[in-house]
Amino acid sequence: MSERVDVSRTRIGDPFVLKIEELSGQNLLACYQCGKCSAGCPAVSEMDILPNQIIRYAQLGLTDELIRSKSIWVCASCLTCNARCPKGINIAEVIEALRQIQLRRRNDHIDIGKVKDPEMEELPPIALISSFRKFTS
Ligand code: SF4
Ligand code: SF4
Repeated sequence: MSERVDVSRTRIGDPFVLKIEELSGQNLLACYQCGKCSAGCPAVSEMDILPNQIIRYAQLGLTDELIRSKSIWVCASCLTCNARCPKGINIAEVIEALRQIQLRRRNDHIDIGKVKDPEMEELPPIALISSFRKFTS
């Protein structure tokens, strides 16, 4: 049985939704769910919510689902979705805004203190540094 989703004006006008639009500079309601962003995304196999669904969830104010999603951390910021969107929506910026909201709450995706010494030695330094910059506050 599919889960019931509560959609209301209040939810769509939620401060969380407005914050996403403010940080990303994107008009979420411009999306008409063509799916071209997800069709070209190289990371969808690892995502629990696809890029077009992220936009849809944001339109509907599904805050908890977005915050819990691992997709916002899986996104590689390759910008393919931006290039493919016929409505000119920068989906990657929306996802970056969701990461920023989490990081500003000090909900780091990576705990630097928990990265083990062998991993530190094996992983390329550039990968570690870029991950720390992108996934920690
Ligand atoms: S920027 Fe992120 S969501 Fe967009 S195509 Fe690249 S990996 Fe996928
Ligand atoms: S490509 Fe653009 S209009 Fe199409 S689903 Fe993605 S965000 Fe929406």
